[in-house]
Amino acid sequence: PADRPVVTRFAPSPTGYLHIGGARTALFNWLYARGRGGKFLLRIEDTDRARSTPQATEAILKGLTWLGLDWDGDPISQFERKDRHAEVARQMLASGAAYRCFSTPEEIAAWREANPRQPFQSPWRDATDLPDAPYAIRLRAPRQGETVIDDAVQGQVRVGNDQLDDMIILRSDGTPTYMLAVVVDDHDMDVTHVIRGDDHLTNTFRQVQIFDAMGWPRPVFAHIPLIHGEDGKKLSKRHGAVGLHEFAALGYPPEAMRNYLARLGWSHGDDELFVDEQARGWFDLSGIGRAPARLDFKKLEH
Ligand code: GLU
Repeated sequence: PADRPVVTRFAPSPTGYLHIGGARTALFNWLYARGRGGKFLLRIEDTDRARSTPQATEAILKGLTWLGLDWDGDPISQFERKDRHAEVARQMLASGAAYRCFSTPEEIAAWREANPRQPFQSPWRDATDLPDAPYAIRLRAPRQGETVIDDAVQGQVRVGNDQLDDMIILRSDGTPTYMLAVVVDDHDMDVTHVIRGDDHLTNTFRQVQIFDAMGWPRPVFAHIPLIHGEDGKKLSKRHGAVGLHEFAALGYPPEAMRNYLARLGWSHGDDELFVDEQARGWFDLSGIGRAPARLDFKKLEH
């Protein structure tokens, strides 16, 4: 993507308030795009209809605005793009990059029991005589070799293809899966850099398989280590304030919060000189550390 204008995105699931981990992810994407004359887009990943709420979307947009992060264009609803996702699944079916799988949940469970610790292998992958029955669409993933990700933070990460099954991209009820939706959206939005928490790294193996199968250029991936509390454990409510709105309510100025979050897991070398304008030009992916960032509230107090 070196020859394309920089496009980053923040893609929250609207299931709760904006926590500081999400706020930092958004900030990194914003800094990266704004420092390069690029675009910073917002995509609301609202496909989980039971857990997504308009109030959460509202809270997330409010949090970003408080922090001073502006986005380009209107936020995109992933749910509203479901027809486009299904269209791509059908396209992959037509090209042979995917196939119809008629296995029922019971059959898959029985296969798994007979083949413990093995990824499911659908008997329909090479079938030619197809029944008139409901089916899911699965990606015809490579069985041999490795899937390799060149991650800007984690370095080269690889997995043997025999460890991955042929993922479902369209369920038998016609709904797209999360993996498909993310890839189609990132492609259609011309995203060049995906900066997100490293809890998504295993998903990325799946996602690059879809990019490759479609012949779409992969974005640059940068998976940032999650934020831990001072005790080195994964950040949770127990550590105190974790919602951005809590910091706002405590009276922290947004500029202080922004500078603090930018420093959380990213370093440039000169701590003292850090101000917003400099960060915009200076922020680069090579400054992101591989160890979990530790939250230290003392550094926030002025
Ligand atoms: N919706 C995902 C989340 O909130 C982010 C997905 C992504 O950045 O690709 O964790």
